[in-house]
This record gives sequence, C-alpha cells and structure tokens, in this order.
Amino acid sequence: MDTPVKGNWEPIITESEFVKVQEVLQKNNSGYQHKKEVDERPLTRLLRCNNCDSYMVGYKNLKKNLHYYRCLKCKGSHLNAHSTKKALKKSAEAIFIELLEKFQIPKKFTPLIKMQLTKLFNQYEENNLQDDKNLETEYKKLQKDVKDLRIRLGLGKIDQETYEITYEHLNEQIQKISKEVNNAKVKISNLEELLKKALKKLENISKIWGCSDLEEKRILQKTMFPEGIFFDAENHIYRTRNPNQFIESISLLSMSYEPNKKADSQNKFEKSATVVPARIELASKV
Ligand SMILES: [Zn+2]
Repeated sequence: MDTPVKGNWEPIITESEFVKVQEVLQKNNSGYQHKKEVDERPLTRLLRCNNCDSYMVGYKNLKKNLHYYRCLKCKGSHLNAHSTKKALKKSAEAIFIELLEKFQIPKKFTPLIKMQLTKLFNQYEENNLQDDKNLETEYKKLQKDVKDLRIRLGLGKIDQETYEITYEHLNEQIQKISKEVNNAKVKISNLEELLKKALKKLENISKIWGCSDLEEKRILQKTMFPEGIFFDAENHIYRTRNPNQFIESISLLSMSYEPNKKADSQNKFEKSATVVPARIELASKV
C-alpha cells in the first residue's frame, strides 16, 4: 500500500514544463528560489507576449548560466534577460532601458514643461473650485426650503402628511449633495514641489531604474506601465499599451518642443491632457 509503483518510463520534461515549474517555485516563498535569481529578472510580471498577451516567464538555463524570458504559449517568443557577448539580439534589459529613455525629458525643456503643467493644474483647481461653489449654493437653498416647510407646517398652511412627503424629498437631495461634497476631487497641495520632484525623476528615469532594488524597480515599472509591456518577437521590440498618462503627457509635451516632432505630439498632448490631474499622484510615487 502506498508504495510508488516503479514504472517502465523515462522522465521526460519539456522545456516549457520546466519553465512552468520554475514559475511555480518563484511564487512559493519557501526558499526554493534564491532572491538573487529573482533579482536577475526584474521584468517578470511586467513583460507580456505581444502575440497572446500572456505574461512571459523568467527562468535560468543552468547549463549556460543565463537568464531568459519566454512565452509559454508562443514558439519563438523569448529573449535573453541580459546582454551577453555572444547574443546577437538585444537583451530584455537593453530594450527596456531604451524604452525608458523615450520617456525621459531633456533637462533644457524642464522649465517649459513645468510652466505648462502648472497652468494645466491651476485650471483644473479653478474648475473644482467653481463646482464646489455651485454645490454650496444648492445646499444652502435646500436648507432654506426645509426651514420654510417647517414654518408652513407651524402656521397650519400644510398638513402633517404633506410636510413629511416634502421633507423626505428635500432630505434626499441634501444627502446627495453632501455625498458629492465629501467626494471632492483630489486636492493637489504643494504643486510646485510635486512637479519639481516628478520632473527631476523623469530627467533620469532610466538611470534611476538601473540603480533601484527589485522592489523599487517593480513599483516604477507598474506605475509607468500599468498594463505591462508587450514583447513583439518578430520585430524584437517592446510595445506599450496605455502607459501612465501623466508620464506620457510629459513625454509628448517634451516632444512638442522639438521642432521636427511638434505637430503630432502637440495634438496627442491636448487629447491626453484632460486626464492628467488624476494621474499626478501616481507619478509622484515613481
Ligand atoms: Zn505568446
């Protein structure tokens, strides 16, 4: 009983099965996977296959002592984690640094970008302020209506039932407005300092990534590319989908100052600028 039957079989494990096992071990924090190994593949949980959208899996080829990322579903969708002397194609890390550099802003444009963004945020705050004022006016009016209602009941101009129905109706509206006031949009305090920090980081984003530890790298990656980045194996490049809009807007804004890229990026910036304020909190965390 319970003795394993020795079968007449050869242990066959395909490369993809091997990779799957590695993936399971990575998730298991019981010490199977040394931290150093995971550190070697910071793009795990970020890199996805452009062909099938699956997350690519990082693994180490023990014989060659090299790290790779691979899509478990698509043949040919794999790449070296790091550059080697032998490898003809760019490594995952090298392409990633190039991608980050695209989001980097030239120092000379920082003051201009800061000015533009300040204008944008002030506009946003102004609109908020106006919304708040409108809500306040409405709130006051409703409170006056309730008071008037009580007086009319007191004077015997309406009966108790009419009072109750009207009061319930007014109270519902008061509750609704209170909710909206409480949901007031994020107030950006100390905009100057926030922008200064965010822009400073964007001047050096690829270097910052390079010097960060695994945890910091992952936060930065997730913030910049919330949907991941997609490896297009055929062209050996990364594609992005919906990167952080604050960062994208800055990059477009920065491009708009370059004479030869001006028209296109200005258009895109104007389209994306409307959503910028919601994203600044995120960018400041990078
Ligand atoms: Zn795939």
